[in-house]
Amino acid sequence: MKKYIVMLFFLASTCSPQDLPGEHSFFDAKNISLFAAVAGSRLLDVHSTSRCLKARYYETQLPPSLVSNKPAFIGYSFALAGLNMQAAYILHKTHHHKLERAISVAHFGAVAATAGRNYSIP
Ligand SMILES: [Zn+2]
Repeated sequence: MKKYIVMLFFLASTCSPQDLPGEHSFFDAKNISLFAAVAGSRLLDVHSTSRCLKARYYETQLPPSLVSNKPAFIGYSFALAGLNMQAAYILHKTHHHKLERAISVAHFGAVAATAGRNYSIP
């Protein structure tokens, strides 16, 4: 996994001269903000889910063995955030820049809504 992440950053850092003029760099301010928002919402989901489990609620979408193991749940969440980055990178390289941003916005929105719902449980 670590090797894969290093490779992803290497690929992202090699902005090639074949990029069309006027296109943005992959790690521009918007993408960095969106990736941080996705990772932050994932952490909020882990925290809010743990809070619900302590209050004797149960997880309905993921296996109990995953959500009750905090390191595994954090690893799962960051793996999904990494997949989000990978998908955004592929869309960036294929010049689908609106979709590149949209998947991060949708990912953040869905996970933040879930975390908000978890926090609303007394
Ligand atoms: Zn792009």
